[in-house]
Amino acid sequence: MPPRRRGAAVRQPAQGLASELAEANRRLEAQSEAIRNRNCELDALARTDPLTGLGNRRALDAAFLARPAAPPDGTPSTDSALLMVDADHFKAINDRWGHDVGDSVLVAMAGVLRTCLRRSDTVARLGGEEFALWLPEATADAAARVAETVHARMAAVRLPDGAEALTVSIGMAMLGGQRDRSDLALLLKRADEALYLAKTAGRNRSCWAVDPGA
Ligand code: GH3
Ligand code: MG
Ligand code: MG
Repeated sequence: MPPRRRGAAVRQPAQGLASELAEANRRLEAQSEAIRNRNCELDALARTDPLTGLGNRRALDAAFLARPAAPPDGTPSTDSALLMVDADHFKAINDRWGHDVGDSVLVAMAGVLRTCLRRSDTVARLGGEEFALWLPEATADAAARVAETVHARMAAVRLPDGAEALTVSIGMAMLGGQRDRSDLALLLKRADEALYLAKTAGRNRSCWAVDPGA
C-alpha cells in the first residue's frame, strides 16, 4: 500500500468547504437582490395612487426634494409654482351617477392633467378629487397659462349624457428662487388658501394666493 500523502486528505474537505461557501454566498446575493427589488416595488407602490396611477403626496415630496434648490452651474435658481386643482361639485357626480362613474371621472381628470405637464413638471393626487401640479421652472405667467389649459381640457372630459361639463377650481402659489424642504408645505398651504378663494368666488376659475411669491 503506497504511503498516504499527508496534505491530500485535508485539502479535499477544504475544497468542498470553499465551494459550499461560494454557493452560500451566491444564494445570499440572490436573496439580497430579490429583497432590494421588492423594496423598490414597495417604495413605488407607497408613492402611487392606485386609482389613477398618479403619484401621491409622498411622490410629490420626493419630486420636490429631488430637484436641487439651486442649479449646480451657479445660474440663478428659477421660481416655481404649485397649482392645486379641485373638481367642482364632484359629490354631485357621485350622488347622481354613482361612485364608479365618479371614479372614472377621477381617472379621466388624471389623464387630462398628465397632458398639461411640461417636461420638468410633476402631477400628484393629493386625495379625493384634489390634485397638485408642481411646476419647478415657471414664471407666474407660465403657471397661469398651464391653469388655463387645465380649465379648457377638463371641460372636454366625457360625462354621462345630461351631466353639465366638468369644471375645476385652481389655487395657485409661487415660490421664489431658493427652495428648502419645508417650502413644499408652505406652498401647499398657500395654494390651498388660493383654492378656497376660487371656490368662494364662484368656482370654475383660478386664483392666486394673496401673497403670490414666498
Ligand atoms: P366643491 O366644489 O366645493 O369642491 O364640492 P365637491 O362636491 O367637489 O367637494 P366635497 O368635498 O363636498 O366632496 C368631495 C367628494 O369626493 C366626496 C367624496 O365622496 C368624493 N370622493 C373622494 N374620493 C373619491 C374617490 O376615490 N372616488 C369617488 N368616486 N369619489 C371620491
Ligand atoms: Mg371638489
Ligand atoms: Mg376637495
